[in-house]
Amino acid sequence: MAFTLPPLPFAENALQPVIDAQTMNIHRTKHHQAYVDNLNKALDGQAEYADWTLDQVCEQMGSLPETIRAAVRNNGGGHWNHSFFWQVIAPKGQGGAPSVDLAAAIGAACGSFDAFKKAFQEAGMKRFGSGWAWLVAKRDGTLAVSSTPNQDNPLMKGFVDNAGTPILGVDVWEHAYYLNYQNRRADYLTAFWEIVNWDEVNRRFTAAKG
Ligand code: MN
Repeated sequence: MAFTLPPLPFAENALQPVIDAQTMNIHRTKHHQAYVDNLNKALDGQAEYADWTLDQVCEQMGSLPETIRAAVRNNGGGHWNHSFFWQVIAPKGQGGAPSVDLAAAIGAACGSFDAFKKAFQEAGMKRFGSGWAWLVAKRDGTLAVSSTPNQDNPLMKGFVDNAGTPILGVDVWEHAYYLNYQNRRADYLTAFWEIVNWDEVNRRFTAAKG
């Protein structure tokens, strides 16, 4: 099977000044590539999981043997999270806007769109060390803002709080922002709103509702 690095849906410099070209290049061709390579290494010779999709790797983590589970969790999560991240961001002005349905669900979950933005940024700020902040479509159909450590994600039910389908996420590992923002994670998270691909978030929200 061998997992591979997906193509970037925009040029490496297309998100400037929010994300600079060098960060995008290193982030994808070094960090993301390493997750892909190490996931393939962890699953090498495991015939039983040879036809697993990347979603299955995350969702069925609990059925993997303990000998490979940690490596698959870190690197399968890393591959899923970054593949997702490149899809939910877009050049400024090209990401559309939240749909009426999504805006209503966000309002129901958080009180208002501004309150959602604040909660999402706080989830990113309060994540000590490395991890992600998420907007999750939960199994019961409601939305929740959450955060996971390392390369965990909300698909990993049984391993994370607020399991469900991620529809928006932001990488708060230092490698995602340090060249441009240094220690200023809050500035990165504020600028992030300029590059959200709402068209893709809307699509994922609709798909998650089934
Ligand atoms: Mn990253």
